Amino acid sequence: MKPVIGVTCDYDLNENRSQVFSGYYESIIRAGGIPLLVPCAEGLSPEDLIGRFDGLLLTGGQDIDPYLYGEEPHQDIGSVYPARDRLEIGLCKMAAEAGIPVLGICKGLQVMNVAMGGTLIQDIRSALGGKALCHSQKAPGFIGMHDVHISEGSKLRSIFNSDKLRVNSFHHQAIKEVGGPLVITAGAGDGVPEAAESTSHRFFVGVQWHPERMVSKAPEMLKLFEALVREAGGHR
Ligand code: MN
Repeated sequence: MKPVIGVTCDYDLNENRSQVFSGYYESIIRAGGIPLLVPCAEGLSPEDLIGRFDGLLLTGGQDIDPYLYGEEPHQDIGSVYPARDRLEIGLCKMAAEAGIPVLGICKGLQVMNVAMGGTLIQDIRSALGGKALCHSQKAPGFIGMHDVHISEGSKLRSIFNSDKLRVNSFHHQAIKEVGGPLVITAGAGDGVPEAAESTSHRFFVGVQWHPERMVSKAPEMLKLFEALVREAGGHR
């Protein structure tokens, strides 16, 4: 049996629909898993869902409600949808407790950090000023915008077998204080954290870039999804 990976959906507040970019679930399928899309729906609780997955993929999206990490909104915060945040933070905490492998992408990494008690830089440009690299690229997603330097000894390093990667960048927020068992495992040249993983879970890995938008032109990006599906198979 192929491992089942829960894939969280984004929510379009104008159209009232859950939706997810195809690159996420197509990459899970290419990696040998079965994606199970999780709608962002009222009345759906993490408790009802968590036992049905062998692994969890937390996808990208809008900003996390800063009240969920104890801050008020900075003037440059983007759109928020607290119901999605609560569902995903709940799923993330339960997956961590149950030892279910988790891969977080972009907002997903931020969800992992907040779920573990961390905080976020609400707006990179405001926090870093002129020192900030381009993290909100205008070029299409298959194009890598900036380098990330990957820490020695990290799972991320063993997944890519490299100390440096060129990645795309579509985020104006990033990890500020890192939560609990997480450590930063990659950073950009301006010091912005670009990946984190848990030192006390078997597979609890997040990246700030979007591998699902790069896989078509950079097949090595599939390695992240393959690692999740492999670990999920082991958990099963
Ligand atoms: Mn970036």
